[in-house]
Amino acid sequence: MSGRENTSRSVYPVQMFLVAATVATVTLTLANIAWFTVTVHVARLRELELLSLLRFGLERADLNPLALLPDIVSRPFEMGDPSALCQFVLLGLGFSVLASALAALILMPLVFVMAWLVPPTAQNTAQRWWWERAFPAAVIIGFLLPAARVPLLAALARWGRPGLIGWGLAGSLLTWGVLLGLFGRRRRTVRILLTCAVLEIGFTAIAVSGMAVDAIVRPHDEAIAQPPASPQAPNILLVSIDSLRRDHVHCYGYPPDTTPVIDTLARDGTMFRTVVSPASWTLPAHLTLLTSLPPEEHGVVDDGSSVRESVVFLAEVLWRSGYTTAGFVSAPYLDAAYGFSQGFDHYDDYTVAKATFKASDSETKTSPALETLAGDWLTQWNHDGRQRPFFIFLHMWDVHYDYTPPAPYDTMFDPDYHGSVDGRNFIHNEQVHAGMDARDLAHVIALYDGEIRFTDTYLGRVLGRLRGLGVLDNTLVVVTADHGDEFFEHGRKGHAKTLYDESVLVPLVMRFPPKVPAGTVVDSQVRLMDVGPTILALVGLGRPQDFGSKRLRGAEAPQDLSRWMNAARPAALPPLTAFGDLELADAPAQITSIRTDGHKLIEPLHDSARAELYDLQTDPGEHANLTDVGAPPLKALRDQLAAWHAVSSDGRQSQAVVLSQEHRELLRALGYLK
Ligand SMILES: [Zn+2]
Repeated sequence: MSGRENTSRSVYPVQMFLVAATVATVTLTLANIAWFTVTVHVARLRELELLSLLRFGLERADLNPLALLPDIVSRPFEMGDPSALCQFVLLGLGFSVLASALAALILMPLVFVMAWLVPPTAQNTAQRWWWERAFPAAVIIGFLLPAARVPLLAALARWGRPGLIGWGLAGSLLTWGVLLGLFGRRRRTVRILLTCAVLEIGFTAIAVSGMAVDAIVRPHDEAIAQPPASPQAPNILLVSIDSLRRDHVHCYGYPPDTTPVIDTLARDGTMFRTVVSPASWTLPAHLTLLTSLPPEEHGVVDDGSSVRESVVFLAEVLWRSGYTTAGFVSAPYLDAAYGFSQGFDHYDDYTVAKATFKASDSETKTSPALETLAGDWLTQWNHDGRQRPFFIFLHMWDVHYDYTPPAPYDTMFDPDYHGSVDGRNFIHNEQVHAGMDARDLAHVIALYDGEIRFTDTYLGRVLGRLRGLGVLDNTLVVVTADHGDEFFEHGRKGHAKTLYDESVLVPLVMRFPPKVPAGTVVDSQVRLMDVGPTILALVGLGRPQDFGSKRLRGAEAPQDLSRWMNAARPAALPPLTAFGDLELADAPAQITSIRTDGHKLIEPLHDSARAELYDLQTDPGEHANLTDVGAPPLKALRDQLAAWHAVSSDGRQSQAVVLSQEHRELLRALGYLK
């Protein structure tokens, strides 16, 4: 399009661009492989820096390519199993290649333009170097083994995504077509294609031999093929509303009308009035809810550890009993990296959790997207002929700070406020502090209540989906929370700071007309870890040997609460003891607690001088410390707490976990990591 003299001046930046593009492609390949190598022990494909550049762009448009990938990407692989190890290595390398090929594909139109603008000539050595050495090398590396996607996708098809094969074939054909178009009449086309073919055959040989090894080792997997469910098995919906403190739920006595949907569930079923979480933050509390292990036993008491794969989750027990299992969660602490996806056929810890990350300090809410995800899954379940009963775990996030409910929930509980304080940036907002103006604090709390009402509304929509499918009455619905939130009752805000009741008491309601008596209220104290055995009992399954705590004994151990719902025989049941554990990197010491129906002892481990003892009957706000007056239960509670820690101090079932950069950024955006 212009004379040679003019072109030579513009050639340099053009070449620099092409070289940079090549370097980027090759670097991406190497970075993927390197990251994959150093994080092999994490054993999750998602922990690769897979498609990170592509994702960065697409997320601006609210598209999430990771959601399109098969579930296997989110599942941990058991690296002690040669079959799983083999699959993981092959898939990891395959995905790395795929990521690089995609990057190269995106750059391709630019290469076309450059090839048109800067045709290779004999005169210019720099151009010749580029076209004869650098670019072919870039093509070979960047488009490394395009057809390798075929065996790779064939492997993925085994996990139920045969449609991907078509896309893989189309991608491969397109890639080869582009290569031929670029080098159409040139001799080196043949050399490039031959090189690709040789590499192709080599990779395919590796993949095929890997699958052969897999096939040899695999039979023991077939032994755990899923059995059919009992024909009478009901469905289960377990909902955890993050940060919902018990005393802000209307049916628990809170005057504002925050929870009409939960209230209706309680009226139709059973409400447990005193439910104790073992920790005041998301990660250990949810692990206890889903494994029936106390934090001292599952051992995940900080950001940096996950449970071992040998820990059995409620979803695994239900899957083994024929349930189809799906989890939809909204925060990074529910990430599969901590073990949460065990036992789930489908576990989405990304689609909504990503929205949380993007919107952690804005007005965007997660409940609508969560309801859509769960609703779509239910539609598919119905469309597929309801082959198995479902277990759905739903983790709802919007009650968690920041407190920014959308209209009309923002003014619903405090329509007359005209001050300047709001619920944004709650943890770091210096306007929200101990001793702040009571009117302003009341407004912040009204915003928290608005989030509760908003979330309750979406809970109602999820239940409406079940009703629409005609399965609500054959579904055990359980609604609870992981912990509460503090509004300076003891000088602090938020959670994960203390073990007072505002932090650890949560609601628990169960609705299941065939077995749960309507309108029952259980006053005696129960624990979050009792939820699992209760669900299993209500759907007609026993608690298997490998599920739940093996160290807690007697009334300390996880209980089937269905016995407590039967009003006829409460006197025969033992009072349940609740232990608490809070161990944070920035806390001065591990705080422990023991709570009975009558008293609570909070004591930093190995620091009995700072113990606090409260009489919960006369002092439910926990303000009058009775340790100095030597109240009688002190020694007994202290002995019981010490005995528990002597039993639980070794053999935690946790291991270190390496968090991806993506995951760390999510936690940081929520104010959890420095
Ligand atoms: Zn939480």
